[in-house]
Amino acid sequence: MILHLKETTTDQRAVGIADSLNAFHFKRNATNVLITGSGMKEVPDSVQGDVEDSWIFENDIQLASKKYQKEKREVKIGNTIIGGTTNSTMLIGGPCSVESEEQIRESAELIKGMGLTTLRGGCYKPRTSPYSFQGLGLEGLQLLAKMREEYGVNIITEARDATHIQEVIEYSDVIQVGAKAMYDQGILRACAKTHKPVLIKRGFGTTLKEFVQAAEFVLSGGNENVILCERGLRTFETNTRFTLDLCGVAWLQEHTNLPIVLDPSHAMGYAYGVPGLSKACVAMGIDGLIVEAHPNPKVAKSDASQQLDFNEFKNLLSVLEPVANAVGYKMI
Ligand code: PEP
Ligand code: MN
Repeated sequence: MILHLKETTTDQRAVGIADSLNAFHFKRNATNVLITGSGMKEVPDSVQGDVEDSWIFENDIQLASKKYQKEKREVKIGNTIIGGTTNSTMLIGGPCSVESEEQIRESAELIKGMGLTTLRGGCYKPRTSPYSFQGLGLEGLQLLAKMREEYGVNIITEARDATHIQEVIEYSDVIQVGAKAMYDQGILRACAKTHKPVLIKRGFGTTLKEFVQAAEFVLSGGNENVILCERGLRTFETNTRFTLDLCGVAWLQEHTNLPIVLDPSHAMGYAYGVPGLSKACVAMGIDGLIVEAHPNPKVAKSDASQQLDFNEFKNLLSVLEPVANAVGYKMI
């Protein structure tokens, strides 16, 4: 249950009520907001006098639910707003991993040169094998920060586990929580304490409810800047890396108020499929699209088979523009 308390209820009393109900508490603009588990089905008599408005839910999809807030949330990435009523699809590009200063500089130049705003690159890579390239860690974050300073691009980079989450929060403009990391409570709880945007990728075996509940961990701590990212599920099929769940996207758009980003690169696993899938994604009217691109995909240290080269990435934008326009969106 979500409760909005009256203006006349002091912050101190709000904290006291939150304690007594074992509820989460944060302030939304000037309003004291309390969130209890969905097991609570009516406003307790003891707090009736303090409650301005209340919402009761069947399950723990609460703050993200359209039943609580019908309008899609806005999230500000650098100076750019996505979500809300902006009807814009942010094309987010960059390599899977930051590999060297030269490679990430070429990538930043690509993004900037195309008039895009946001560069993505991983420094703490959640690899399936311990023998694969694990990312440059802090050195990579510092390179990304340098690119932000020199090119004015926003930085999205991922946290692999909670041990370095503070570093990732400090260096990024958007914290990416990867498909394997989305169950890491240390990461989610740390993300709840900042106001930086958090992009949560859906695990490949994660139900929509579990996915949105991961977002609730961040929202209930008072960080309203949460973005969901669908990146493919594991199915019986092995010819493609994963299966992009566009039905799930339709469900999220219908039931949640969170901006949605799609990642066709990881879903497909092969560069040849990425442009076509990107069109299908943009046609759904989405808030962002992540596409991996590398100056020389053949030698990429991770996800080599799925990364576009820079010419393919540049072509993609012109191909996607009319698709976005056809559904009332614009590529940004
Ligand atoms: C990535 O974004 O490079 C990545 C590792 O993705 P995911 O967490 O979706 O597997
Ligand atoms: Mn990748």
